[in-house]
Amino acid sequence: MTDLDLKSLIRTIPDYPKPGIQFRDITTLLGHAEGLRHCIEAMAAPFAHARVEAVAGIEARGFILGGAVADRLGTGFVPIRKKGKLPWKTIGQDYELEYGVDVIEMHEDAIRPGERVLLVDDLIATGGTAHAAAKLLARSGGELVGAAFVIDLPELGGCERLERESIACHTLVTFDGH
Ligand code: AMP
Repeated sequence: MTDLDLKSLIRTIPDYPKPGIQFRDITTLLGHAEGLRHCIEAMAAPFAHARVEAVAGIEARGFILGGAVADRLGTGFVPIRKKGKLPWKTIGQDYELEYGVDVIEMHEDAIRPGERVLLVDDLIATGGTAHAAAKLLARSGGELVGAAFVIDLPELGGCERLERESIACHTLVTFDGH
């Protein structure tokens, strides 16, 4: 299976959740056994020899992909969640949305100092979420090895933004527009 086939397994929903947004729905990819396996292998492969020690995934689709990538790389998994969802002591990071501000959190003891971490999510658009997650991981003492996404929306510049901060950004398929 090629990356092109992977792209065909992603469903596009126009004007969701609001007019003008083309929502890239990966549930159709997740439901396809061969596609899911290929996707996880392709996300993990560039980091197979990068001495990754933990995979951090962003709620909620980043949990599904990140858990599987962690298993493949032989590491544990660290959840990064929306504010107020984690049960233990947390550190938080706010980031700008189109309208307003949002906060993501992780457990303050989830990462050991110097631990080599791979960040995983389904899609990178502006990079605001991934950038906030990278800050959070750095503040917790982790060393970010890179970030892996299924989908890149290159017109929104998220990968460029991460790479300007020397974070390797690995994506499998690209879509035009928002
Ligand atoms: P950003 O912070 O702008 O890079 O947005 C990335 C986050 O928003 C990811 O967690 C995505 O799941 C979600 N997201 C942004 N745009 C889309 C889109 N067009 N389709 C599906 N998810 C999206």
